[in-house]
Amino acid sequence: MSKTESGAALEVLRRVFGYDAFRGDQAAIIDTVVRGEDALVLMPTGGGKSLCYQIPALVRPGTGVVISPLIALMQDQVDALAALGVRAAFLNSTLDLDARRKVERAFVAGELDLLYLAPEGLRTEAAMSLLDRGAISLFAIDEAHCVSQWGHDFRPDYLELSVLHQRWPGVPRIALTATATAATRAEIVERLALDAARQFVSSFDRPNIQYRIVGKDRPDKQLLALLRTEHHGDAGIVYCLSRASTERVAEMLCENGIDALPYHAGLSTQVRAANQARFLREDGLVMVATIAFGMGIDKPDVRFVAHLDLPKSVEGYYQETGRAGRDGGPSTACLAYGLADVVQQRRLIELSEGDAAHKRNLTRHLNAMLALCETVECRRTQLLAYFGQAHPSPEQPQPPVAEPAEITTGCGNCDTCLQPPASWDGTIAAQKVLSAVFRLAKERGQSFGVGQIIDILRGRDTEKVRRFRHNQLTVFNVGGDLSEGQWRTVIRQLLAQGLLAVEPEHSTLRLTEESGDVLGGRRQVNLRVDVVARAAGHGGKRGRTGAASTSRPAPASAGSTLELASADLPLFEALRAWRAGEAKAMGLPAYIVFTDATLRGIATARPTSLDGLSQISGVGETKLARYGEAVLQVVSVSAG
Ligand code: ADP
Ligand code: ZN
Repeated sequence: MSKTESGAALEVLRRVFGYDAFRGDQAAIIDTVVRGEDALVLMPTGGGKSLCYQIPALVRPGTGVVISPLIALMQDQVDALAALGVRAAFLNSTLDLDARRKVERAFVAGELDLLYLAPEGLRTEAAMSLLDRGAISLFAIDEAHCVSQWGHDFRPDYLELSVLHQRWPGVPRIALTATATAATRAEIVERLALDAARQFVSSFDRPNIQYRIVGKDRPDKQLLALLRTEHHGDAGIVYCLSRASTERVAEMLCENGIDALPYHAGLSTQVRAANQARFLREDGLVMVATIAFGMGIDKPDVRFVAHLDLPKSVEGYYQETGRAGRDGGPSTACLAYGLADVVQQRRLIELSEGDAAHKRNLTRHLNAMLALCETVECRRTQLLAYFGQAHPSPEQPQPPVAEPAEITTGCGNCDTCLQPPASWDGTIAAQKVLSAVFRLAKERGQSFGVGQIIDILRGRDTEKVRRFRHNQLTVFNVGGDLSEGQWRTVIRQLLAQGLLAVEPEHSTLRLTEESGDVLGGRRQVNLRVDVVARAAGHGGKRGRTGAASTSRPAPASAGSTLELASADLPLFEALRAWRAGEAKAMGLPAYIVFTDATLRGIATARPTSLDGLSQISGVGETKLARYGEAVLQVVSVSAG
């Protein structure tokens, strides 16, 4: 690409978006598309994917057509672009005929820089011929992993998108996703016929997210502790497995004085839309949701994501936790999981419809998730390894000579790095559990659930023990050395390691092929000591972000003021108050007016002129013209 084109992209970045420089692969991706070539972009949430198609659409002649499954978010996306002075519109099923006609006319007249379309909108010949009547600068296929039939976001309409290439072979296409697995990438290439596309795979590390996985012990209390001690007044998402539990937990939070809303596929479209809009527009709201919630939510200041149930796969876990901290600020991802989660998930797989191959696939996913939960190593290292990436990020040059002996791969910002968990030789404990299960099956033809096994091991005199005469088993009372809770963590880890299995019918335990090695003394079993009591956190000890260095200010904005000197806080709060009024008046989410990061920049620099204000990251031409005087006014009043 020529100098002038490259210069044009940078000029647009600075003038329209108000940013100084491209990040990571952005410049190379934009070059590729501006040149008219195809690109496949894998970048984590918050990495800055949108600019990768928005800037080429502004640099190339014609309208950039963006295919997105996120109908409910199109209005916000278009509003955000309008706030930057970009001419954008969308066409989807929510528009009435008049509004639709208006957009169509604008497109044909060449008055749009960007046009957002839902994939189903492309199915008709009418839609196709509309596109024929305008000039198209590029096709952007957002959330491209939706073509993957094995992923959880599959949209059948995405399979039809290869038609774009056939009908408009000269128009460059850029497909984007935050899904990192090589399998998904291969599927996108195949189904969208992107073999010739240049691939850009970023590091999937999210250094500002602190990953924690803790033992589940009264999850309501654990959640409240997390919210009260570390995330007071912060926006966040709590993921639950069932619809019923999202409603119950949301209610529980409200009863405890925390603003929370439920979100799940069982709620009406209106309620879902209203709850989502409130989450995006209001500060400090907690969304308690099933995994139906979250894709494409570009709220930058989500400060925590808590999981109260075990995700089914590492991909899912990564996507869901990735919704925290898009703005790069310190954020928490906390998962609480326990024995019941493992039993339930194993059962669900057994009971699921589908053939053996499908079940094996689900089991593989679950096992990877369990391995992440039970690891005594760095969570981040293991998470990235799952996506085939090393930590630190692959772009960073490796030392020319391999460091001998000790390899330090710890990230310093996950629970196992901050407080390395102890592990212990649990072989004997494991043998006790397995032989109890074995004797019941062998001698009596019986199988029992976790509770009865633990009662037998601990020698408890219960009615059920007497009724089945379990006190006569040789394993009766051989496990008085561990508490009931400790036995539960032992059994949970045996299930996680595949040394025990669950019978789906009655959730009873049985041995697996590998159990024999443990019983025969041929295999040692290492177990981790659970950190349950400290579930609420690690006292604000943060790895790379240095968050602990500033004392926590007023609760309502705890999360977003972390990087500010205390002298700048009043101005920051004044700017936020001004922004809230502005956003409300225009019916926009606050971050569309300015992000917290930009307000922080203003509060620190205290510009006294429009020129000074324009130097701050996130203040482009249009926002300067629209809000400049008002912002300077807030700065001068607060300073005076
Ligand atoms: P993604 O779609 O990959 O999740 P976004 O496109 O929403 O990420 O970008 C995340 C945030 O980073 C947005 O607030 C965006 O404006 C900001 N951003 C993107 N690129 C840059 C850049 N080069 N400089 C500064 N901020 C950027
Ligand atoms: Zn770590």
